[in-house]
Amino acid sequence: MSQALASLSIDLDGIRHYRAIHGLPPRSGPDPFLTEGLDRFLELCERFAIPATLFVVTEDLADDDFARRIRKAAKAGHEIASHSHRHDYDFSQHSPAEIQAELHRSREAIRRVTRKLPRGFRAPGYNLSPALVDALAKVGFTYDSSMLPSPLYWAARAAVISGKSLTDRPSASLIGRPNDFIGDGRPHRFDNGLLELPMTGALGIPWIGSLVVTSPLGSLITRTVATRTEPIDLELHPIDLTSSDQVEAELVAVRRDLQVPVARRQRRLEKTLQKLVRNRRFRTLSDVAETCP
Ligand SMILES: [Zn+2]
Repeated sequence: MSQALASLSIDLDGIRHYRAIHGLPPRSGPDPFLTEGLDRFLELCERFAIPATLFVVTEDLADDDFARRIRKAAKAGHEIASHSHRHDYDFSQHSPAEIQAELHRSREAIRRVTRKLPRGFRAPGYNLSPALVDALAKVGFTYDSSMLPSPLYWAARAAVISGKSLTDRPSASLIGRPNDFIGDGRPHRFDNGLLELPMTGALGIPWIGSLVVTSPLGSLITRTVATRTEPIDLELHPIDLTSSDQVEAELVAVRRDLQVPVARRQRRLEKTLQKLVRNRRFRTLSDVAETCP
């Protein structure tokens, strides 16, 4: 019997996105998430011989140093996919024409760096809309991986965003549609033929890096999803592997994940990957998409 598939994906959100989520004012300067965090992730992939999928916020490719890292990752066999051009949390609510224009821009930015058009897309904040699903197929994406079958995550996030809207530090994040956060987690096609490769969750909780690296609950979810026959995807962010001494104190103060020493976070992730590579074949999401009817 052939081994079940797994994928490892990372959404390359920068520090500015976390500042926006937590209602902190914007600030410029170096971004350790896109240097130290990304480098640690790529080293880990190399050590475990995992071809990963990198969802890039493509406006960041204007930075030569970041573009060089992404080009090198593509050459090493990782898939470069789009996480939108500007990572607006309300991207799914833009007009159809705006959505298409930004998707085109994002695809071209990736082609300039890797000489290949991306096949996959993940929406900022995991929020889809009929206009976005329509535009993804029209501009040439073959799969989307934004749906997160984790109603508890949706409910918890909605509560936090609503709470913050009453304060002087409202969140830039969007409550979104509960429909994007239910489902059985299996790949399926939208009416327009676009393939959805949902992210993975169990017990109503998403199987994501911040959980795996900070909480014992992470290993429970890992054990639960590891028994499945369908492809599973572990979703990380560079923040999972960035040390807090590189990050401004006001952000560390509101991020429990950054308060866990990075060595401990990394060890937990390594243990998780060690278990998974024994029983699963890791493929990029684009290769997983190829196996779907
Ligand atoms: Zn993101």
